[in-house]
Amino acid sequence: MRFDTIIIGGGLAGLTAGIRLQEEGRRTAIVSSGQSALHFFSGSFESLKDCPEAEELFDRAGVRLHNLPGSRRLLPGGAFREAVLSLGDVSLLPGEGPIGKKALIVSFNGYHDFFPELLAGALEKDGTPSIQGIVEMEELAALRKSPTEMRSVNIARVLDKCPDKFVQKVKELLADGVDTVILPQVFGLDGDEVPRAISEGLAPLKVIFVGTLPPSVPGIRTQNMLRRRYERLGGTFIIGDSVVSGAVHEGIVSSVASHNLDTYRLFADNFILCSGSFFSKGLHSSPTAIEEPVFGLDVEFPEDRSLWYEADFFEPQPYMGIGVKADKDLHPSIGGEKVTNLYVAGAILGASKDGKYGTGAGKAIKSALAAANKILSL
Ligand SMILES: Cc1cc2nc3c(=O)[nH]c(=O)nc-3n(C[C@H](O)[C@H](O)[C@H](O)COP(=O)(O)OP(=O)(O)OC[C@H]3O[C@@H](n4cnc5c(N)ncnc54)[C@H](O)[C@@H]3O)c2cc1C
Repeated sequence: MRFDTIIIGGGLAGLTAGIRLQEEGRRTAIVSSGQSALHFFSGSFESLKDCPEAEELFDRAGVRLHNLPGSRRLLPGGAFREAVLSLGDVSLLPGEGPIGKKALIVSFNGYHDFFPELLAGALEKDGTPSIQGIVEMEELAALRKSPTEMRSVNIARVLDKCPDKFVQKVKELLADGVDTVILPQVFGLDGDEVPRAISEGLAPLKVIFVGTLPPSVPGIRTQNMLRRRYERLGGTFIIGDSVVSGAVHEGIVSSVASHNLDTYRLFADNFILCSGSFFSKGLHSSPTAIEEPVFGLDVEFPEDRSLWYEADFFEPQPYMGIGVKADKDLHPSIGGEKVTNLYVAGAILGASKDGKYGTGAGKAIKSALAAANKILSL
């Protein structure tokens, strides 16, 4: 099979690049072995304050993004962090001062992936007293029979069908003086209409959605919506297969082989490698080396292994910045020789010295757009 561009990895970077290229009428395929980091996504794109090109591309996929300069967001553990470009249902809060007069923090019996006590402690310090409430609904009773079923995605599957009833149940928990309601992000697997309907149903109370432990409902929604957009544009999404090697001759990739396609090869003019970092197996580490397993691309890492990590677990870990070496056009190299029709984007890319692409999801989006735009300009 022949394509204009083959993208290896269907997470945030791969899908962003794929949509960009398909929107310009290119014939592309994404090969992706499995889950991406989006399944663990907080809903906020680290290191990205604004990016009109991404905002418009996501908007066309039905994914609403927003940011408000100077605002904050509330993290699941109770810390506040400066807001960045975020999904529409990530609540942006004023930069300073109490978030409300009094908050109601809502959870469910048997749900252990959300931490009302931690949030209450943090809000108290910030000047907002709070009370806690448990929503009881017969629709959730079946999930509670097995503790492993009381997870955010399963709760969303139930509550997405009856948001009005949920709103009614929250209203029954309200007490005098409550002007703010804090809810776990367990709504809207198919779009952000349900979280929006809940906010509207509880108005004029202020509703703040706070992340939960994975799996992430907003992250899975984002992955599904981007994939849907990509496929509607005519992109070929091959899920559950892994690219295992590439044929590279004199700095040019002609084809790649995958695990499932056996001896059949995928050919393209250009390739983008978006296979993620260690977490997604885009990078492998052994006691002596860090390797990129598909093409054997050059990876920049210190020889002294003790420099890969910081002994204090809570400090930033240097291995998180380790990745494939790339030039200014995102071309990698093999044994020092540039590969001219291969681009690397997303978490597999090492931290750039000039910080051009930032970190986290911001890096995934910016580098994916840069790689796709480079291909479009050829
Ligand atoms: C657990 C976790 C949570 C995170 N949360 C956030 C967050 O909330 N905000 C933020 O800004 N950043 C977050 N990050 C940083 C994250 O790296 C980026 O947000 C971004 O999603 C990475 O996107 P990516 O497409 O580069 O890689 P990934 O999302 O890792 O996707 C890579 C994809 O490639 C596939 N793949 C790998 N090898 C092959 C192969 N050989 N053949 C075919 N497919 C292959 C994988 O299965 C995977 O689907 C998180 C990272 C992790 C690991």
